[in-house]
Formats: sequence, C-alpha cells, structure tokens
Amino acid sequence: MKKWMQLPRDVLVGHDVIYDIKYVCKDLKLGTDPVIVTGCNTRKIAGDIVCDLLNDCGQNALVVVSAEASMVEVEKVKKEALEHNSSYMIGVGSGKSIDVAKLAATQLDVPFMSVPTAASHDGIVSSRASIRCNGKTSSIEANAPMAVIADTAIISKAPYRLLAAGCGDIISNYTAVRDWELAYRLTNEPFSEYAAALSRMTAKILIDSADSIKPGLESSVRMVVKALVSSGVAMSIAGSSRPASGSEHMFSHALDMVSPHHALHGEQCGVGTIMMMYLHGGDWTKIKECLEVIGAPTTAEELGIEDRYILEALLVAHTIRPERYTILGTGLTPAAAEKVARITKVIS
Ligand SMILES: [Zn+2]
Repeated sequence: MKKWMQLPRDVLVGHDVIYDIKYVCKDLKLGTDPVIVTGCNTRKIAGDIVCDLLNDCGQNALVVVSAEASMVEVEKVKKEALEHNSSYMIGVGSGKSIDVAKLAATQLDVPFMSVPTAASHDGIVSSRASIRCNGKTSSIEANAPMAVIADTAIISKAPYRLLAAGCGDIISNYTAVRDWELAYRLTNEPFSEYAAALSRMTAKILIDSADSIKPGLESSVRMVVKALVSSGVAMSIAGSSRPASGSEHMFSHALDMVSPHHALHGEQCGVGTIMMMYLHGGDWTKIKECLEVIGAPTTAEELGIEDRYILEALLVAHTIRPERYTILGTGLTPAAAEKVARITKVIS
C-alpha cells in the first residue's frame, strides 16, 4: 500500500514541556495504560518523570527498559504491551528507545509518542526505525510519532556531542537533495519540489546560524530540534527519506559495516557531506567550516576512525542502497576515493 503523507499531530518544543504530556494524551485521546520504552540512563533523566506524570492522572503506565535497538527488544516490548493491554506507547530516550517503541507500536497498530532526551538525529520525528537484526542494522518503515515532546531543559543537559551530531544529520540534507535532483534528472525518479525546498532551507537556516549553536544553551537545542522536525516533515511530504538521506548517509552506513569503531550517525554523515559535496562540485569548504564552528568532527582522526576505513567505506558506499541513485553512481575508483578524502582533508 502506498503511504500517504504522515505527520506528527502535536509537536511541543520548549522549556519544561514534558509536564504537558498529560494534556497531549488527552488531546490525542490516546487511551490508557501506556508502555514507556526507555534506556537505563534516560529512565532517570525523563522516563520516570513521564511515568509519574501519567500515573498521577490515573493512567497505569508501565516502564520497560530497553538496552538496544534490536528485533529481540521490539518483540519483548510488544509482549509487555499486549500483557499490559496498552492502548499506546511512548519512547523516551536518545534514539534506541524511540526506535524500539516506534516499530513495536507500528506492528501492534497503536499510536506512539516520541519524547527525546537528545537531538542527535532525525529519528526522533521520522517514520523510520533503525533496528538491528541478525548482526545488521536496517532502516525499517514504521509510523511517524503522533506527538513529539522535546523538552529543551532536558535535551540541553545531554552531552553536547549529541547535539553537534544532530547538526551533522541536518547538514546532510544539502547533499541528499543534490543526489535526489541527480536521480530525478538521470533516472526519472519521482521528485518533490516542496520536500526538496523544505529540506534545503532547513539545512541553510542551520548553517546560517551555526555560530549560535553552543553547549548548554536551550536556544541552540530549540534550533536543532526544530530543524530535525522540519527534516522529518520534508521526508513525510516526499514519502521517503530521500530529502534527508543520500550518498553521505550511504557513506555513514558503509563505515558502520567496514570499520570496527564507529562515531555517531550524525557525525559520520557530517563528514560524508563534506566529501559528497566535493564530488558534486559544490562549496564543500563551507560545510567543513560550519561543522568546525559547531564543534562536530570533520576528519577521520576526529571521528576516531582509521584513514583506511574511510577509503574502504567510500569504495563500497554505492552498494548500500543500489536502488538509490546518487553522485557515487556505480562506485568510485580507489584513486578517486583517495583524492576526495585527501583534498577535503578528511584523511591526511
Ligand atoms: Zn540521518
């Protein structure tokens, strides 16, 4: 079945908005007895607050701690939710808990709410869940959250590295849209002007205000969360992740495959964007400078990944999603891969 545009209905971004959760539940008529999927640490930061707030208004919330975003955890959460007779689910965490709750809720056909404790990638609003299965992480189609409650007081206390990674995920939109335009011209892939314009504008606003993104500031969190929501909306309009995921994301997924050490998704995508922008013939120095201003990694060394894995990832990136045409085409030659990585100073 072709999916129609699916958007979150209520989006709350601001100081202490977590305390409005009961009004959101009422507004959306979500029912009772939710399962709250959260992590070990994020439970203490926000999971227990959500649980207490809901129990105070007569709901019987059940907290399930999920250690990883895997199919095993999704099945565990589904079982708990069925036994608990839950009419909806809440994911409270930095990413993994949200992905598990998102997929479990989709499979049980119940609504889902996202309460991020960090803003490190667009999974907090998107309709895709990144789940590990048989040793491989795949991006699985799921329902978008009915509501997103992004409390800037909570998110500003998360390690700054996570917020900087979120910026990398947003800046990716630049090369993702270029890849999409290329696929539209070369392979006649369906293209949405609206989705592309929104995605590009989101990255531009962030780049233009890069120097105001700093650790510990709620205003910075607000800016990044709004940009992640915007990217999510662009993907919803397109009905695919095309506006926010192109060759730079394929490079990041390739790194996950070939390198024994990984950096954060958004950090890898940011470095990927520098190199893919070079391949597109665009202003890659601007991307690099902007990531430097934000304090996100721009080199293999800063990612903590050996140069040879960067080159290996560049060579296999085009095989990650062969149906998704990008600037990588049918693949780079080893000489071309080394050239792009050296010229952009990703490797030295
Ligand atoms: Zn991403």
